[in-house]
Amino acid sequence: MKADNCIFCKIANGEIPAKTLYEDDKFRVILDLGPATKGHALILPKDHYADLFELPEESAGEVMKLAKRMLIKMRDKLGCEGFNLVQNNGDLAGQTVFHFHLHMIPRYSADGQKIGWKPQEVTPEELEEVKNQIVG
Ligand code: AMP
Ligand code: ZN
Repeated sequence: MKADNCIFCKIANGEIPAKTLYEDDKFRVILDLGPATKGHALILPKDHYADLFELPEESAGEVMKLAKRMLIKMRDKLGCEGFNLVQNNGDLAGQTVFHFHLHMIPRYSADGQKIGWKPQEVTPEELEEVKNQIVG
């Protein structure tokens, strides 16, 4: 399944060139064109899924296994000291390309990046209420 006019479909399937770190029949791993840090890479499935909601569960598992293999390789080759895995779903969450992708962002001391959020105050009652909303 490919989507017309999807740039990541075209990259994943080799119609548009990219710096490929790994490829198999289901995935391509490329370097991000606007890297947060040296080695910032993306795992792309070759089939089109807009986001994690659409990605089949089995593929989601394969993505995480592939991420682990890539992280080990990049840590050994680049000498980074940490990693952030980032995966945005929906434009409100910062997704700009609507073909599922997992960011792998190597971290170096003093790399100047900050990937995170501002923790909010929450009461135990509020936590209980949210828990019940999700699983109650
Ligand atoms: P997101 O905001 O999670 O949708 O991330 C999209 C990412 O794709 C950004 O980090 C972009 O820098 C990256 N990107 C967009 N176009 C290309 C491209 N042609 N090749 C490589 N990376 C790209
Ligand atoms: Zn696509």
